[in-house]
Amino acid sequence: MPYTLEPSYDDNPRLQELVGRLRTYLTDELIPYEREHGITPESPLDRPTLEHVWKRSAELGFYGISLPPELGGQGLNFTELCVLKEELTASGAALSHSVLGDLGGPLRVGAIVKYATQEQLDRYLLPVVRGERACCFSITEQDAGSDVRRMTTTATPTPDGAAYVLDGHKVFSSAAPFADFAIVVARMAGTEEAYSAFLVDLDTPGCRVLDGEVPMSGQQMEGDLVFEDCRVPAANLLGEIGQGLRIGIGRITLNRLLHCPSLIGAARRAWDLSVAYAKQREAFGQPLLALQAIQHKLADMATELYAARSMVLATAARADRGENISVEANMCKLFTSEACFRVADQAVQIHGKAGLTRGHEVEQIFRSLRMFRIVTGTTEIHKNAIVKALV
Ligand SMILES: Cc1cc2nc3c(=O)[nH]c(=O)nc-3n(C[C@H](O)[C@H](O)[C@H](O)COP(=O)(O)OP(=O)(O)OC[C@H]3O[C@@H](n4cnc5c(N)ncnc54)[C@H](O)[C@@H]3O)c2cc1C
Repeated sequence: MPYTLEPSYDDNPRLQELVGRLRTYLTDELIPYEREHGITPESPLDRPTLEHVWKRSAELGFYGISLPPELGGQGLNFTELCVLKEELTASGAALSHSVLGDLGGPLRVGAIVKYATQEQLDRYLLPVVRGERACCFSITEQDAGSDVRRMTTTATPTPDGAAYVLDGHKVFSSAAPFADFAIVVARMAGTEEAYSAFLVDLDTPGCRVLDGEVPMSGQQMEGDLVFEDCRVPAANLLGEIGQGLRIGIGRITLNRLLHCPSLIGAARRAWDLSVAYAKQREAFGQPLLALQAIQHKLADMATELYAARSMVLATAARADRGENISVEANMCKLFTSEACFRVADQAVQIHGKAGLTRGHEVEQIFRSLRMFRIVTGTTEIHKNAIVKALV
């Protein structure tokens, strides 16, 4: 397929059809809906708005589309999922995170289904897939980020073995403000290194959801979870005692890869906006686009996007063949997060003062992309992982 920033995928009819339908939904329905309701990336998210998107996306077959058919999806492979994710953020839709179920939805639970009992599937995970419930994933604490083993949230078994009592404070749980339950990783009380994962209804006595810090993107989707003597039934232990970090971190390799297309899409949007601006903005008697310095910036931006997309799709294809991608996923996230941030920086430069203005789309993309050099693994942690595996 020849390189283009907005591919047609005409070598893959199924993907071409899906991308076509997704683009139509985004431009003809979701973006007009956001405009009508004044929804921006920084608007507080409320459940009725999100449920509207989940329901419509499910009707169109997009919600949870990558899950296997037995879970209600269409079994999309990783390559196809990456393509759809890039299209979502490239559209500029503020609610694009809720179309496939990235935020609190099916994409959050897909990787943990294999650890769930039938009862956990029926009560927790399948309702998420159907868009009836939402979840968050809580591992980070104020003093435990990259070094998750520093966590101090504990789980204490009750003497009769019927429950575990959670105590602790989790921060920066995405989707917590509107989730129904959390997947919480806690240290088994009295142990140094045994961590377990629990499904915790957020209305359980002893569990409180607090407004989280607002990150620099301005998006209001994070919350804190506080557990004080919070009794969780033993049946809500996910997997086995001591498997908590495997469950938590096991999904991280794939998540690192699957974040990349979203970053590429956002940077592609910044490129589109920059080209449009450079065509219409005049300086010294000509459009900016006539200036070679501006053309060179656009060339650098397109080249960074080509490199990032090539890496990501090559790695996704390897994952589709069942190969181990732990090194490559770290390389993809490292390169893509840094490259897409450089693209956003160039976009701000091309826009001049407009790009510095609070609320301008390019300025919002710049702030959002800056976060991904830290979120789901910092640049330094990716480098550590790459060298540890290769040397
Ligand atoms: C918007 C947002 C959403 C989030 N969503 C979630 C979520 O849903 N669930 C969840 O559990 N968490 C979530 N997080 C937390 C996120 O995963 C952590 O912020 C991230 O893992 C980094 O941890 P930290 O911020 O504590 O930084 P730290 O770990 O304190 O790192 C600080 C600096 O030290 C560097 N550093 C640390 N250790 C090393 C090392 N060994 N070698 C080299 N450098 C090192 C880091 O790279 C970084 O530059 C979210 C965070 C944000 C901002």
